[in-house]
Amino acid sequence: MPRYNDYFGPYGGRYVPEVLQAPLKELEQGFQDALDDPEFIGEFDEFCRDFIGRPTPLLPAKNASKALGGAQIYIKLEGLANTGAHKINNAAGQALLARRMGKTRIIAETGAGQHGVATAAACARLGLPCVIYMGEEDIRRQHPNVYWMEMYGAEVRSVTSGSRTLKDAVNEAFRDWTANSDKTHYLLGSALGPSPYPDMVREFQSVIGREIQEQATFPIHTMVACVGGGSNAIGFLSPFLEDTSIRMVGVEAGGRGDGEGNNAVRMADTGRPGIIQGYKSLFLHNSDGQVLKTHSISAGLDYPGIGPQLASLGEQGRLEFTQAKDDEALEALKFFARHEGLIFAMESAHAGAAAMKLAKEMRPDQNLIINMSGRGDKDIFISAAALDGENWKRFLQKESRRKYVD
Ligand SMILES: *Cc1c(COP(=O)(O)O)cnc(C)c1O
Repeated sequence: MPRYNDYFGPYGGRYVPEVLQAPLKELEQGFQDALDDPEFIGEFDEFCRDFIGRPTPLLPAKNASKALGGAQIYIKLEGLANTGAHKINNAAGQALLARRMGKTRIIAETGAGQHGVATAAACARLGLPCVIYMGEEDIRRQHPNVYWMEMYGAEVRSVTSGSRTLKDAVNEAFRDWTANSDKTHYLLGSALGPSPYPDMVREFQSVIGREIQEQATFPIHTMVACVGGGSNAIGFLSPFLEDTSIRMVGVEAGGRGDGEGNNAVRMADTGRPGIIQGYKSLFLHNSDGQVLKTHSISAGLDYPGIGPQLASLGEQGRLEFTQAKDDEALEALKFFARHEGLIFAMESAHAGAAAMKLAKEMRPDQNLIINMSGRGDKDIFISAAALDGENWKRFLQKESRRKYVD
């Protein structure tokens, strides 16, 4: 596969103001040079091994397979990566690249806070100062992640424009980058945005798929991943795209069900082509180009757009898309906890839910791999409220009355 593409079918591109063309060209060149430099590849591999804890295991999920009575299920445990999810792979790769390019400051955007946490951790490790833009509304909703980012030494900057959420944080990060690109790297968090980000994020995340190539000593029939912006899915799948004997399934957030504002499904003839935040892809937006509200129980899957490569692979039919609803994700969370001792991140539980259905339709001599993109400790405020509401409320009330300082 070519390393670098402006476009994936009709999607992708670099739709940015003139002032950002030069820094994006510089980044593209820096990225290409780094990939051709064995020393850089060595640094990335070492960081992955010593800091992230890679390779992450590929677990034969024997109990789950038996309980479902279909395919043999394997689970790639990205939740065991340091900071608890796949996001650190990209954060590490871009932070190392920034250092190689002589950048001395990192900025990033974050919505739910997971990408901010991964970026802050990678920057702490590399001694790079880091500013995380986060909507005021998201700061309020995601207090624990703000706490961890600051613990890692990052500065979290509250964005008070617009809806005070992720898209406003992205705008603010671009504004900062426009003014400071000579010494600052903008560390974007998913496989989207203007070129070369979709390629760059895919390359750093494809460590997931490359490890599976080594670990899977069996024929792979089906691979399943959840799709927010698309970084865990493309990293998991990209080394296997040429092997057309493998069925690939991306799982979107079905939320509460059909209807505008109830889900974040873009790939069921629901998304329309558009150019938003520097790239062309399928988005949930109205005919005036206004981005629509989305809903998902998982904070990482409620993004209104999808990475351009995944949109293109979906339209070509190479990648199938399906959905899991909020309650199906919660069921999958319980199922894998009981049967395998794994707490899936709410995002990953969407992949788990779809895989449970797919596995049942397959034969026991066939193999299915789920990408568990993260672990679910971070979701306790959501999962406990949804599954054990009364007890959880009582606990929180007690905590709120506790005296923290004597
Ligand atoms: C952010 C996140 C996602 C969604 O982002 P992608 O770019 O689609 O991978 C999925 N799982 C976890 C655990 C996340 O933190």
